[in-house]
Order: sequence, then C-alpha cells, then structure tokens
Amino acid sequence: LWDIDHTLIENNGVSKETYAGAFELLTGRIAEQPAVTEGRTDPEIMRDLLIANGVQPEAELLRDLPEALASAMKSRVERLRKQGFALPGTRQALTALNNAAGVVQSVVTGNIQSNAFFKLSAFDLTQFLDLDVGGYGSDAADRSHLVDISRRRVADKYGVPYGRQCIVVIGDTPRDVRAGFSGGAYVIGVATGSYDVAALLAEGADIALSDLSDTDALMKSIINFRARSSTIIPTETSMSTNQIIDSKWAFATAQRLLASLGNRWKHVQAVGERARLIGGGMTPDERELLVTAALLHDIGYAPELSSLGFHPLDGARWLRTQGATPRLCSLVAHHSCASIEAEERGLSFELETEFPQEDSTVADALTCADMTVGPTGLPVRVDERLDEILTRYPEGDMVNRAVRRSSPALKGTVRRAEARLGFTVTDSGISFAA
Ligand SMILES: [Mg+2]
Repeated sequence: LWDIDHTLIENNGVSKETYAGAFELLTGRIAEQPAVTEGRTDPEIMRDLLIANGVQPEAELLRDLPEALASAMKSRVERLRKQGFALPGTRQALTALNNAAGVVQSVVTGNIQSNAFFKLSAFDLTQFLDLDVGGYGSDAADRSHLVDISRRRVADKYGVPYGRQCIVVIGDTPRDVRAGFSGGAYVIGVATGSYDVAALLAEGADIALSDLSDTDALMKSIINFRARSSTIIPTETSMSTNQIIDSKWAFATAQRLLASLGNRWKHVQAVGERARLIGGGMTPDERELLVTAALLHDIGYAPELSSLGFHPLDGARWLRTQGATPRLCSLVAHHSCASIEAEERGLSFELETEFPQEDSTVADALTCADMTVGPTGLPVRVDERLDEILTRYPEGDMVNRAVRRSSPALKGTVRRAEARLGFTVTDSGISFAA
C-alpha cells in the first residue's frame, strides 16, 4: 500500500495550489495562509486551512469539500504533469511488484479518491495499482483507519482474508509509519519527503530507504516480510486433524487432486512406483517416506492448491497445513532442483527459509525417480527427460532457463542415486546390480 505524495510522485507545490484552489471555490476568497500537509488527510488539511484563514468549517462547507477538491485538482492535472514528476525508481518498483506472484498493489493516501487517481494518472502510474481497494482521505479523516479500510476491500474483492502481517505500507512521513502500525502492517519508509532515513527508522519503520531507485533492496525487504509472515500462516490455517500422512494417504490425495489433470496423474503414479522400486534397499521408514514424497511431489499442480504458480512451494505449503512432517514438506519443496527455479522466480527466500533443504539419499532418490519417468509415466533416461522439458517450455521461459541451469546437478543426482542404491537407469526402466 503506497503513499502517493513524496513517495511515488513529487507534486512540486501543485498539491498546495489545489488546496488553495478548493478554498477559493468554497469561500469565494483567496487563502492568505497556506495549507500545511505533512502526511495528513485532505479533510484534515482543508479543515485547518479554513480555520487558519478565519473560516468556520461548518457542516455545509464540509459537505461541498470533496467536489471542490476534485474540481481544483482536475483543472491542475496538466500543470502537475509539467511541474511534477514520478520519483526515481517509482516505475521500476511498481513494475517489479506488479510482476511478483501474489502481490496486490494499491494506495493508502490522505488524498480523496478522485485526486489520488488524477495524481497517479498524470504520470501514467494507475496501470500498476488496483485503486478500487485503496484507503483514501475520502474514507476517513484519520489516516490510521485507512490501512484497515483497504484490507477489508482487498478481502472483499479478492476473497483472500489476508492477515494484517501480509501488508506492507510504504510512505515518507511519520504519519505513514504510524498508519502502517495501526493497520498491523510492515512499514517501509522512503526519505524522499521531509524526513530522512534516520528519522523514519527512529519512528519505527521496519526498513527505510533513501529513495525507490534500488528496486532489488525494496523487493528483498518485501520478500523478507513475506517470509516472516508465512511462518504464521500454518497456525492460522492448519487443520488439526489426526490423519496419518503415509503412502496410502498420498496415493488417495494425489488421485483426488490430480486425476483430472490426465497425464500428470499418470506421471505421478509411475514416479511413485519407481520410488518404491529403487528404495528397495532402504529401511522401511525411509522407503515409505520416499514413496509418500514421490506420490505428492507434484501435488502443487492441483489448481485448488496453486497460489504462487510454483508447484514445489505451493505443494509443500499445502502439505504443511495438512500436518505433514517438515521432512516430507522439504522433500516436496526441493524435488528436482526446485531451488534453481525458485531463483528464477524470485522465490528463493521463501523456499529456503520455510523448507530447509535436505541432503540425503531419500532426496536424491526422489529426484532420480522424477527425472527418469516421462510426463506420461513412461520410463526415460535423464537426458531425454531434460530434452523433453526443454522442448515443452520455449526458450526464454523461466522453466527452460531453470532446467538448463540445473541439468548438471540433476544428472549428477541420478548418478549418485544409482551408485548409492545399486541400480542403473536403462531405456526401459531400472536394472539392479547382480
Ligand atoms: Mg507522502
């Protein structure tokens, strides 16, 4: 949730002219005292401007306020476009977040809604923001209510009852910081207004940046918040069932969730069978874990579980809510070098912090089983499997890049599993050493 003035854009005095213009429309007089802004809401600013110029803010006057403000702003959009500018890094930051999975961007601003729109559209920034779900000076005079107002709108529109800690407020004044706190949000301060980094940190901002020009730093901060929040999600959503998560459950669950996806379910069954085969020399517990993980490794492809669109992490997160052990979740999260695709998708932090990677024969065997069974469940060698994936995802696609990068490690993993478990992958399946 972005603040607008001095955070995304510099209005270079056009805001103050707008308040003076609205004053004139309301009273027929020229304001002698200027408006004082400082992160306050439009109703607060106008009320004080009226009083400072000797006008009682009576109900009738206040009723006409939004229309006067909107009209004063509308007639100054061209002036704003010429005189103001989008602050450094604004467009890049909005674009990067717009491309990030699971992010909705909007505004929390003291501006009334119409004027927020005029200001943002003057610099062609509205395309990145869902202005339906923002919090505005037209909703409440007290900025501290605006984050909650926006949160409710997001929940209504997107059907996601997102926790307070999933919100990041970004602004330039102590009032923005405090509004973030009242809404239970994380806060990033940007020192492009009257307050420097130290002042915003001192106010309690989780992070303070000198401006928005370092997109990576901004994204890292937000990913970091998200990872901290996600450790809270399972306790809110986990079903405290006593179900036993074993290979039987895994088969029934994968069938229920993946059978409608055709080949995916064929692939999953074959990977499960292959895992049972190559795990023959393991302890019964290890083999059972391997087969369970094999049957669940692609569960994140089920449309009802997919939220990030990155199936290893979507699947592992869902399994965690079902009460799966950290070890099982981690095997699913990291199967077949998922960490490299996570890097391509900007999800490394989430993956690595939520599901620490396990380096074991079970993990190798899982990847080996997945990498030696084709998309329709037929046996393949790892080279063919990799070539096949590369033809399915075009050059330039994230998956294509990830597979190219992880190919050496995937081939190495298959070789390691063969050596440790005493088998060889052939064209038609598995042959065990005599
Ligand atoms: Mg501001």
